[in-house]
Amino acid sequence: MLKIENLHAELEDQDKQILKGVTLEIPAGEVHAIMGPNGSGKSTTSYVLSGRGGYEVTEGTATLDGVDLLSLEPEQRAAAGLFLAFQYPVEIPGVGNMTFLRTALNAQRKARGEEELSAAEFLKLIREKAKALNIDADMLKRPVNVGFSGGEKKRNEILQMAMLEPRMCILDETDSGLDVDAMRLVADGVNALRSPERSFLVITHYQRLLDHIKPDVVHIMAGGRIVKSGGPELALEVEQNGYADLLAEVS
Ligand code: ADP
Ligand code: MG
Ligand code: MG
Repeated sequence: MLKIENLHAELEDQDKQILKGVTLEIPAGEVHAIMGPNGSGKSTTSYVLSGRGGYEVTEGTATLDGVDLLSLEPEQRAAAGLFLAFQYPVEIPGVGNMTFLRTALNAQRKARGEEELSAAEFLKLIREKAKALNIDADMLKRPVNVGFSGGEKKRNEILQMAMLEPRMCILDETDSGLDVDAMRLVADGVNALRSPERSFLVITHYQRLLDHIKPDVVHIMAGGRIVKSGGPELALEVEQNGYADLLAEVS
């Protein structure tokens, strides 16, 4: 599924190296978490995978089902099955949520050589998905994210994920200041969308989220690399003891 090997990346305009050899493999159906101190490169990892500008990959590879992600445009990465939860957090005044999702979904289908969904087919699908996720039909008609509360934005992210049916979902929850309710929403959404064919990478600064999303593997990132991997108990260890002991142990 997702395979990252010895990934090195730097800031394009500063020659500042941020990722210093990230190696990570996430098999189909598994949920992996990345934790780590601030500034360790967690968000950068997801940005580089998504193809966001401003970063230069200087070494290493990243493949999804054997497809070289790094050579693809961001839209092609999405078509290959990669979804990043922060990909569409922007507010888009004047564009209805439904219109936006239909455009995104059909663009993805087109890139995959699949037929676009008709308006009726799309409506049926989005109603089903919204209902399954307990999402109010009202939210579908509002302009994308405009005036959405934090919780509504999270709900919308989960809906986008459900509609696009990605193989690999990456959620970076580090800086979103999730309150307990929003955390629940994210966790319930992820749990509802877990399947043997779909994998998740949940990036989080806090252990709390992992109380609700039980990860198969927890990775600790520090200084631009994964320095330790283990089971869910690793997250508890971090919660109890912080990073200092753990990092001293691996350095
Ligand atoms: P994390 O998500 O683990 O907190 P980041 O990936 O956001 O860490 O950042 C990793 C490091 O790269 C930090 O030291 C940060 O200051 C630096 N960094 C990231 N993006 C930029 C940027 N655009 N300009 C300057 N420094 C950056
Ligand atoms: Mg450079
Ligand atoms: Mg971050």
